[in-house]
Amino acid sequence: MSPTSPAGNRTAAPTMDPPRMTRGRATAVVDLSAVQDNARLFAQRNAAGLMAVVKADGFGHGAVPLARAALAGGAGWLGVTSVDEALQLRTAGLSAPILSWLNAVDADFDTALRHRVDLAVPGVDHLYAVTAAAVRTGRRARIHLHLDTGMARDGAAAAEWPHLLRRIAAAVSRGPVQLVGVMGHLACADDPDDPHNPAGRLAFERGLVAVRRAGLAPGIRHLATTAATLTDPRTHYDLSRIGAGLVGIDPSGGTALLPTMSLFAPVVSVRDVPAGTAVGYRHGHVTLRATRLALLPLGYADGIPRSAGGTGQVLLRGRRCRLVGAVSMDQIVIDVGDEPVVPGEVATVFGPGAKGEPTVADWARWADTIEQEIVARIGQRIIRTYVRDA
Ligand SMILES: *Cc1c(COP(=O)(O)O)cnc(C)c1O
Repeated sequence: MSPTSPAGNRTAAPTMDPPRMTRGRATAVVDLSAVQDNARLFAQRNAAGLMAVVKADGFGHGAVPLARAALAGGAGWLGVTSVDEALQLRTAGLSAPILSWLNAVDADFDTALRHRVDLAVPGVDHLYAVTAAAVRTGRRARIHLHLDTGMARDGAAAAEWPHLLRRIAAAVSRGPVQLVGVMGHLACADDPDDPHNPAGRLAFERGLVAVRRAGLAPGIRHLATTAATLTDPRTHYDLSRIGAGLVGIDPSGGTALLPTMSLFAPVVSVRDVPAGTAVGYRHGHVTLRATRLALLPLGYADGIPRSAGGTGQVLLRGRRCRLVGAVSMDQIVIDVGDEPVVPGEVATVFGPGAKGEPTVADWARWADTIEQEIVARIGQRIIRTYVRDA
C-alpha cells in the first residue's frame, strides 16, 4: 500500500539545526507541532473521542510534553499503563481524564483515586482491590471493564464475564464503583484484512451485550488503537486509544503521519586507519581499505539496537555512513570514508528523512523490529529537546 498524506502538505518535520541542539551530548529533538498535527488527524478520524496513550514515557518522547501536545491537538483523554505514570501527568498539572490499565492488584489505587485516575478492571481481584480503595478513601472508583477480545493477554477472559459482571453490578449498586467505560483490544489490527479483526469486534459486541444484560450501561466503549482507527471505522465506538500514531507511526503502514523525533550525536573522536584494521569487540569488523573512523557516544543502553551493528547507518556531512563493528553499550563506530570529519561535528542518527538521513522505519528494518521499539527504547541518557514550528 502506498502511503497517503491526509495530514496535508506537511510531510517532514521542520528543519533542525543539529549543532544547536547538541551540547556535546546525544540529543533527541521532538517536534511537538508534528505531534499536535498527528493528534488532530486522529481527532478528526474518530470524532467521538481521542485518548492519547503516553505510556513508556510517551513512547520515549517524554510523557508530559507528548500529552500536552496531544491535548492541544484535540485529545480529550490520556492513557497510561501504571498509576505511577498517571501521577506523573497529574503532578505536571494535567487535569484531563486519565485511564490507567495494567496495574497489579496491590498497586496504589488509593493514590490513583485521590488524583481522579480511572482504572481498568480486568478481573474480580482487581475489582475487589479497587472497591476497597474506594471505601478507604471515600472516593468513588471510576472503572473501565477490560475485556479480552481475543489475544489472551490483558483483560478478562470471556468465560469470566458473567461472574465479573455480577460483581461489578453489585459494587455499582452499593455505590463505591462507577462503570465509566468498557474496553477491548485487537490483536491483528495492523493487517486490516486479517480475519481476527471481525472476530475481535464480535467478541467486543458480545461483551457489550453481557454488560447490558447485567443491568449496567457500558458508558464509553473503546476498542480501536492507531491501526484500527485508520483502517476500520466500525471499530471506533466512543473513543480511540492512540499511541503510535501520535509519534508518527502507523502499524498498518497505509497512512503517512508526521515524523516526530530526530536523534543527533556528536563525533567524539576521529582516526585514520589502514586496511585490515579490526574494529570493536570481538573485532566484529575489519576495514577493507584505508579509511577514517568516527566515534559516536551512544550505544545499546541508549536504544541503538545491537542487532543493527554492521547494517545501521547515520548521516554525516550529507553522506550515509555505516556502523562498523559491534554496537557497544555506550558507543558506536562509523566509517566515514574519506570525508574530512572532525570531532564535534554532528551526525543524524534518524530523522524525518527529508535530507537523506535514516528514518525510524529504516532502523526498525535494520534491527528486524517495529518502529515503536526504536523510539520507546531511546534511553534516559539522551537529552530531549522540544521544538514547535509555529
Ligand atoms: C499501547 C496501547 C494502546 C496504544 O496502541 P497504539 O497501537 O500504539 O496506538 C492502546 N491500548 C492499549 C491497551 C495499549 O496497551
